[in-house]
Amino acid sequence: MAADKMMVNRATFDDVILPVYAPAQFVPVKGKGSRVWDQNGSEYIDFSGGIAVTALGHCHPALVNALKNQGETLWHTSNIFTNEPALRLASKLIAATFADRVFFVNSGTEANEAAFKLARYYVSKKQSPYKTKIIAFHNAFHGRTLFAVSVGGQPKYSDGFGPKPADIIHVPFNDLEAVRAVIDDHTCAVVVEPIQGEGGIMPASQAFMTGLRDLCDEYQALLVFDEVQTGMGRSGRLFAYQHYGVEPDILTTAKALGGGFPVSAMLTTNKIASVMSPGVHGTTYGGNPLACAVAEAAMDIINTDEVLDGVAERRQQFDAGLNAINTRLDVFTDVRGMGLLIGAVLKPHYADKARDILDAAASEGLMILNAGTGVIRLAPSLIIEPADIDEGMQRFARALEKVIRA
Ligand SMILES: *Cc1c(COP(=O)(O)O)cnc(C)c1O
Repeated sequence: MAADKMMVNRATFDDVILPVYAPAQFVPVKGKGSRVWDQNGSEYIDFSGGIAVTALGHCHPALVNALKNQGETLWHTSNIFTNEPALRLASKLIAATFADRVFFVNSGTEANEAAFKLARYYVSKKQSPYKTKIIAFHNAFHGRTLFAVSVGGQPKYSDGFGPKPADIIHVPFNDLEAVRAVIDDHTCAVVVEPIQGEGGIMPASQAFMTGLRDLCDEYQALLVFDEVQTGMGRSGRLFAYQHYGVEPDILTTAKALGGGFPVSAMLTTNKIASVMSPGVHGTTYGGNPLACAVAEAAMDIINTDEVLDGVAERRQQFDAGLNAINTRLDVFTDVRGMGLLIGAVLKPHYADKARDILDAAASEGLMILNAGTGVIRLAPSLIIEPADIDEGMQRFARALEKVIRA
C-alpha cells in the first residue's frame, strides 16, 4: 500500500523553501518529450529545457532505462573505489574532445571551482606562486560558490558575501584590446564562456576567441572555457569551442551532461593534470554511477550526426517562427545565440517586461526563460518535434500580444 502523500502546492513554496527563487505559479508534475503537465492537468510546451539541461526532453526512454538499470545494479561507491560508468563516460568525453583527463562533480559551479583551483595550482607549481591573476568578463556567469561568483562578472551575485577571493579582474566581453591591456606576466588564467548564457545569450566573436588563445600562449596563462551551458550539443557541435577551432586548456560542462540528472565535468590535458595528486582536490559524489550511467546514455545519443545536424535544422525553424512574430508584432531588435541556445532581444520599450512575458507564456501553455536584461531565452530539447516548435510559437505569439496590449 502506498503511503499517503502530503498535499503540497505553489503556496507551500513560500512557506518552506529559502526565498532565493521566484518560481512560476504552476507546479509541473510530469513530462514526456517536450510536453509537461502541471498539478491541474494543464499541458505546456517546454522551450526552457530546465535551463538548457533536458537536452533530450523529459523522460527519454534511453535515459530512463540507463537510470533503472544502474539503479538496480550499483548506486554509489565514493572515490575510494572507482566505477565502470564513470570510466566509460570519461573515455567517451576524451575521445570526443581536446582533453586527456576528466574530473567529475555534480554542478556547474563545482566544475568551475575545480577548474579555477586547478589553474591556480598548476601555475603556482610550474611557474610562480605570484602568478595568480584571473581575467574574466563583465556579465559572465560561472555559478554560485564564492570563487565562482567572484570570477563571474555580475557584482549583484557576489556583493555582500565578502571578503572575496583576490586577484580577479573583469573586462568587457568580446573586447580583445581590453584583455591585452591587463594581461601580464602575473596572469594565471583567462576564463570565458564561448557564448555568454545568463549574461544575455551573447556569442564570442571568432577574432576574440582566437585572440584570447594567442594572448594566453604569449603570457603562458591558461585558457578556461566555461561550457556549462553551451556544452553537450547545445550549439550544434558537441562543444561550442569546436565551432571556433580554438582549444582551451581546461573546459567545464554540466547542464545537459546528465540530461536532467545532476552531474558535471572538468576536462583538461595530461600536461596540466600532471600537477595533481591524491588528496589535492576531490568530492564524495563525483562520478557517481547513477549520474554517469545516465550521462553516458545521453552522450551516446547527442554525439551523433543525426542529433547535432538536427540542432541546426531546428534552429532554422525557430528563427523563421521568431521572424514571423517580429514582422507582425515588432517586439525584438535581434535574435542571437548559437544552435538551440536562442536569445530574442526585446526592444528597449519592452526590456523590463521579460517576467510578464514569461508569466503570459505560462498561461498560454508555454515554458520559456529570460537571460540578462530584456532577453527572452529559449533552450529547448535538441530533439524537440517540429510540430511542438510550431505549436509553441503560436502560444508564444499569443503571450506576446497579451503583454503588448496590456
Ligand atoms: C548554469 C551555469 C553555471 C552554474 O551551474 P550550476 O549547476 O547552477 O552550479 C556556471 N556557468 C555557466 C556558464 C552556467 O550557465
